[in-house]
Amino acid sequence: MNDIYISGSGTLTQPQLEHYSGSVAAYLTARKVRIAAVIAGKSPLVYAAIRGCIMSGVCYIPVDEALPEQRREVLSEAEVVLYDSGEFHGEPWYTDLREVVRRESPAEAEMPLLCSDRPAYRIYTSGTTGSPKGIEVTLGNVGSFLRWFMTIPAIAEVKPRRVLNQAMFSFDLSVAELYYSLFTGAALTVIERGLWQDFPRLFQRIKDSRAELAVFTPAFAELCLCDSSFSRELLPELRVFFFCGEVLKPEVAAKLFRRFPRVRIVNAYGPTECCCAVTAAEITPDMTEQSLPVGDMSHTAGEVRVENGEIVIYGGSVARYVGAEQGGFRSVNGVRRFHTGDSGYIEGGRLYFAGRLDRQVKIMGYRIEPEDIENNLLKIPGVLQAAVSVSGRGSRSSLSAEVRTDGSVTPENIRRELPRFLPKHMIPGRITVAEVLPMSASGKLKRG
Ligand code: AMP
Repeated sequence: MNDIYISGSGTLTQPQLEHYSGSVAAYLTARKVRIAAVIAGKSPLVYAAIRGCIMSGVCYIPVDEALPEQRREVLSEAEVVLYDSGEFHGEPWYTDLREVVRRESPAEAEMPLLCSDRPAYRIYTSGTTGSPKGIEVTLGNVGSFLRWFMTIPAIAEVKPRRVLNQAMFSFDLSVAELYYSLFTGAALTVIERGLWQDFPRLFQRIKDSRAELAVFTPAFAELCLCDSSFSRELLPELRVFFFCGEVLKPEVAAKLFRRFPRVRIVNAYGPTECCCAVTAAEITPDMTEQSLPVGDMSHTAGEVRVENGEIVIYGGSVARYVGAEQGGFRSVNGVRRFHTGDSGYIEGGRLYFAGRLDRQVKIMGYRIEPEDIENNLLKIPGVLQAAVSVSGRGSRSSLSAEVRTDGSVTPENIRRELPRFLPKHMIPGRITVAEVLPMSASGKLKRG
């Protein structure tokens, strides 16, 4: 029997996946759970748990296993926390997935139709307040995404049967390959974060996947391209690269075309607030001399417009924030839309991304609000003011923080404290102490 899920900690066949996810569904249904957090590594049981949540109509929250304790407040929203590794036991609502699949007889439930207002998942991303911001996505939102995704010409024509995942399950890019695999039966090979620093094992996993479709962030492709063996010999059956989440540089696309002749490159665009992606443009070698488009306006998920220079999304993909927060969501006469904060323009029927209208940045595919870091710096005793700035662009972006203190903390103390509050990718590379921080005429902090 062929494996349909391949990870560093094991594999699953379709009957195993159905069995384990059925057990998780039975467990959740018997306890009338509505919201479950899944400590989202990439083990086979985590994949089965996500499928079990979808089957039983339970909204799941994929939580990064490396998230610092202080940012795990999102777990308190969940009625159960499903985990598959040793360190989380103890709390009564924490449930070991290994126990669940050992004890529960599988439920017979079918996978639902992706067309209702029922919440499917909540993803938390960096918010300006210093706490993660929750986005609740419905089954209908996922349906809007998946129907569009499967009709992108490169995907519809290739109909990939083997897919390679790179993104963490707590990052919304992973929705593309997770739902595509779960709803089409395509085999999914995953790349765990630990493999990024271990090229021999990383490349072996990539090779073993025999993927026809690779869903990557541009930063990850750039990392792989550092090694000359990232080429057609490694993935002879690869037909499509699907990119989303940050700028795909023309030179990266050009290099990929040289290393993988005849591969198709799709550059997709969208925020977590509108379920993964809403536009996509197929890139051809002749386009790689200038900025690449992020969408073909004749095929979008819902309606995508540029209004006063900002990309605005309407239609079935538009999700909502958890709680009362409104952010960029607006509703007029029942028509909901999301103002992305992305500057964009349309030229020749194609959408182009032209940067942010606010201070949000992407570093290695991670979405970061500098205010989030500033507010967490202020949680460290002795820090009185903080200003975070971003230098460089794309994968070379780096964060630096300037702080004013009461004299009781040094940059070293701050660097030691910050991992309690922030994940690794949000920790500034440079932290300096200043006597005074530059202020604007209106009394606001000025950042570099
Ligand atoms: P996230 O919610 O993490 O998916 O981040 C969404 C943001 O990433 C968007 O609002 C854009 O600022 C940026 N983004 C997504 N796709 C692209 C792309 N293809 N090119 C440039 N920026 C992108």
